This record gives sequence, structure tokens and C-alpha cells, in this order.
Amino acid sequence: MNIKNLLSGEITQCDLINYYNVTLLYEQLPLSVNGLVFNYDGINFIIINDNLSYYKRKKTLLHELAHIELNQLCQRDKDLFAFHIQEYEDEADRYIKYLLN
Ligand SMILES: [Zn+2]
Repeated sequence: MNIKNLLSGEITQCDLINYYNVTLLYEQLPLSVNGLVFNYDGINFIIINDNLSYYKRKKTLLHELAHIELNQLCQRDKDLFAFHIQEYEDEADRYIKYLLN
């Protein structure tokens, strides 16, 4: 089960979120932040900026799920906020672009 299955409609967003053990939250975040993802105690938390449009929230969720799918959260010890690292940002975006084409 992966993002590709979600994009092709074989599974629902809910299926994938459960599969990756994600707690999904919508919060008021600064406008410069679309969303963030981190792992705490074995649970993946994705927080999406509630100020975004429907489309941008979907796109952000895919981006954050890509970080999980690409195993980018556990590569640096104690650094819950690995998503700030630009190479990971680019990789996550490239991955989604690849899946959409
Ligand atoms: Zn990111």
C-alpha cells in the first residue's frame, strides 16, 4: 500500500493514513508553513495548515506522506524536524511529481 495506490483510486486517503499509523491534524499555522510531519513514539504526526485551500491541503498531505514513504523521518537521530532539510523537501516533491505523471 502506497501513495501510488491512493492516486490511482485503489485505496482511500483514510486507508493510507491508517497504514502509515498517521495522526492527521489541521491547525492554524504561519502562512509560510504548508504543513509538517514528524514521528513521536512510533506515531507519525502530520499537521496541515488550516488556512490553505482544499486543493493545497490535499497537495500538502501528499507531500508529507511522501516524507514517510521515503523513510525520511528516522534518518537523523533526535531530529524530529528532518523535513526542514532541503534535499528531503526536493526529494518529496520530485516523488509526488513522478507519481502524478
Ligand atoms: Zn516537506
